[in-house]
Amino acid sequence: MDENGQGNLRDLLTQRGISRRDFMRFCALMAGTLALPASAIPKISYALETVKRPPLIWLEFQDCAGCTESLLRANRPTVAELVLDILSLNYHETIMTPSGKRAEQSLKETMEAGGYLTVVEGSIPTGENSFYCCIAGRSAEEILKEAAAHTAAIIAVGACAFYGGWPATSPNPTGAKGVKDVVSGVPIINLSGCPYNVDNLTATVVHYLTFGSLPAVDDLGRPLFAYGRRIHDNCERRGHFDANEFVREWGDEGHRKGWCLYQMGCKGPVAFQNCPTLRWNGGLSWPVGAGHGCIACAAPDFWEREPYETVPIVGPTPPTTYPPVEEETKGLSPAAAGVIGGLAGLAVGVAGAVAARELGKERS
Ligand code: SF4
Repeated sequence: MDENGQGNLRDLLTQRGISRRDFMRFCALMAGTLALPASAIPKISYALETVKRPPLIWLEFQDCAGCTESLLRANRPTVAELVLDILSLNYHETIMTPSGKRAEQSLKETMEAGGYLTVVEGSIPTGENSFYCCIAGRSAEEILKEAAAHTAAIIAVGACAFYGGWPATSPNPTGAKGVKDVVSGVPIINLSGCPYNVDNLTATVVHYLTFGSLPAVDDLGRPLFAYGRRIHDNCERRGHFDANEFVREWGDEGHRKGWCLYQMGCKGPVAFQNCPTLRWNGGLSWPVGAGHGCIACAAPDFWEREPYETVPIVGPTPPTTYPPVEEETKGLSPAAAGVIGGLAGLAVGVAGAVAARELGKERS
């Protein structure tokens, strides 16, 4: 440990009694999430074990704290491991222990030292001289610009932080904007979603620590490992879509049987994110798995779209996997579909980089 109490991860893992097997399992999970080959696992483990904990500041502006909630539900690694073992979270209004001047002092000292990562949650109001969101007497816009001047990179979590999100809904009374429209000249990565998935944040940080750079992104600034695959192609209900088995009314027989939600407005055919394979709450479920259609929450302006209107199928693509031919498609139970979806996730994790290149151009 150095004079600031900042040790490398190897020291901290030893102190916490975390086994090497569990650590290597985490590294393998990260390699799969990042669509890297197995040969990357030793590189990830070496980087994580030897790198100093990077300082990180988390700025909350016009938000609902849903993305912070997502952070607090991280279990790969647990939030304690994420915060204490991988990152030195120097400033986060909602979960940091200090408050008032001591909290602001921590932010000031981190900014002065430079070289930190900045996570932004929520949009930045720019109307009326930016007075709609002020913290410690300074506007969100002012704080963000100061943070951007000395940060190594900005990670925009949630739709609000990158696009403006719900606060920017027409007529956008506060002049809400996303990070990309307020600062420039600094690497910005877009982990959009409402909220974003914390496992994608963990993987992004792991990539940064391992390779010294942010992962490759699409034309919306979203990392390809997380947003390079069409939801419709990896959905556990896809077999029902192909079999023309649709939910027609909430609570009908098809809904109870886990059939496709396309006719109920599911945006999965035009949405790109790894929800079906990564899932939420420790891989337990995701919105479509729980019976509601995808709302394409990682897309720009999704909050302006009619959630229950069907979307046109543009450039239809085959599913990532098919059920075994000896099984009847019509007999595909939700549970069986879930297993198939999980297997598809494993396959996609390995082949993701290739799949990302093969996907159609129509993105949202
Ligand atoms: S529920 Fe949505 S994503 Fe899943 S197969 Fe149907 S339309 Fe596609």
